[in-house]
Amino acid sequence: MSGICNFIQNTKYFKKSFKNYLRINISLYKYFFIDNPEIIKKKIKSLCNKLNIFGRIYISYEGINIQANILKKYLKIFKKKISNIHKDLKNIYINIGIDNSKISFNTLSVKIKKNIIFDGLQSFKLNINLNNKYLNSKKVNNLLYNKEAVFVDIRNNYEHKIGHFKNAILMNTSIFREQLQKIFQYIHKYKTKKIVLYCTGGIRCEKTSLWIKSNGYKNVYQIRGGIIGYINDCIKNNNSIEFLGKIFVFDLRLYETVTKDILSYCDQCNRKSDYYVNCINNKCNLLFIQCLLCSKRYQSFCSKKCYIEFHRK
Ligand SMILES: [Zn+2]
Ligand SMILES: [Zn+2]
Repeated sequence: MSGICNFIQNTKYFKKSFKNYLRINISLYKYFFIDNPEIIKKKIKSLCNKLNIFGRIYISYEGINIQANILKKYLKIFKKKISNIHKDLKNIYINIGIDNSKISFNTLSVKIKKNIIFDGLQSFKLNINLNNKYLNSKKVNNLLYNKEAVFVDIRNNYEHKIGHFKNAILMNTSIFREQLQKIFQYIHKYKTKKIVLYCTGGIRCEKTSLWIKSNGYKNVYQIRGGIIGYINDCIKNNNSIEFLGKIFVFDLRLYETVTKDILSYCDQCNRKSDYYVNCINNKCNLLFIQCLLCSKRYQSFCSKKCYIEFHRK
């Protein structure tokens, strides 16, 4: 029987059909004015249903934010169709996931939100002429070892803990809104230097860039496509990858591996580890780092208390 299976797997037919079902993880966003988010929502939802796309999509008066999982063979069609939905979506930049061995989403959710990423900047009006300065991987690598430049990680502590650029400023915050409030505490010493912002896919840097420029910072740059864009650009152009560890992602996968460096520690025993788990006690659901030894000892519980509470039911 296995002989037949091997035979089938080696046929051209199998290889072709496997390719047909290959799914990839993508992300894309854009800040632009949308008069009627309902119409855009309908169009995007119908496109996703037609192309069998799963994901989490936010639409607002200020733009769109799409994290999705798509059949690779449909990527070209998707790019074309999304460009036709609105003139400002023409040639939109699409980030392709680094690790596509696991899928990011298995359902589709399309929602209208006040912001495409909540920033809490109520009095700060977004200028649509972003005019932000974007860096490719070659420029990033040059600036990483330049004393005149400072890298600022625009992500939360649980994200940068498992992976970041060497020597980057890491903020101790747990939500984006908090970062925008606290960022000046971290960067005020570097007002005259080149400030390079980065986040996972680039979206958080768009507003952060405007926000800090409106507070008097002049030399502000951001990485095109964030860390994911940087890695893909390094691979494409054969540049060395200077990012260490893993990229935290907000989907089923929890992370994408970039290098084997382990930068963080087990929350239960302090051994080096970077495996995130959610506490299996759903009343707790805490996101924490657990090493393999502790995973054997405590299973997927964050504490003895959660273990007892869960088994009491
Ligand atoms: Zn441990
Ligand atoms: Zn727990």
